[in-house]
Amino acid sequence: MYLTKDVKVLFSSPEFFSNELSQNWHTIEIPALCPNCGVGFGPTSVCRNKFSEEGEYFYFFTHKCNICFKYCLTLQIVSNDRTRLIAAYPKTQLRQFDQLLRDLSPEFIDMYQASLSSEQNGYANLAGIGYRSAMELLIKDYALDFELSSKEDISRLNLNRAIDKFFGNDENAMIPADVVRTFGNNFAHWDKSQKYADLETLKAYLDLVVQFIYSRLMIKHPPVKRDKGWKSRN
Ligand SMILES: [Zn+2]
Repeated sequence: MYLTKDVKVLFSSPEFFSNELSQNWHTIEIPALCPNCGVGFGPTSVCRNKFSEEGEYFYFFTHKCNICFKYCLTLQIVSNDRTRLIAAYPKTQLRQFDQLLRDLSPEFIDMYQASLSSEQNGYANLAGIGYRSAMELLIKDYALDFELSSKEDISRLNLNRAIDKFFGNDENAMIPADVVRTFGNNFAHWDKSQKYADLETLKAYLDLVVQFIYSRLMIKHPPVKRDKGWKSRN
């Protein structure tokens, strides 16, 4: 199962098997996100090969991402003037995180990647819930590492109270964390009538939380430090 979007591709007539497929423009399905960089993309799609099997027709495509310029491959099954995506490679590209974040919260990294994989395979609700859980793991590991509270206290806090307690004095962290919490909750709701969550917005605000904590880690672990006697020499 893929979360897909339709794109129009220009074919030259010889690429088709029969006259009814010889239109110049053809609708194909592509993955909604680039499997290499995880961003919504508008790739350059080219039909590279075609074959038939038991009366079905198939096209093999390459798609060059307009963001990361890497290629992904898809196999499409033909039905009149449109095709359906039946296989894609690579399936999922995991996101890269700096070593500081990987050391701080391996569980956040695992949960984030699982959510990304869910998203790229079309399970938006699962992804939304997962990103919210990933953020909770990150915030709690951050609180523990920066000794903002005891382990027992941190483990008892729900996400809402954890945001209050650890980000309450800084709206640069609190506001984005609240957006992720609220949007993540909406993906879990039985009643979707008031759902206004979308994954792109949730992820953008989650990035702000990650960036906030990452900047704290960079300050805590700088690659160089001033000499201890710096002040007295100036
Ligand atoms: Zn890409």
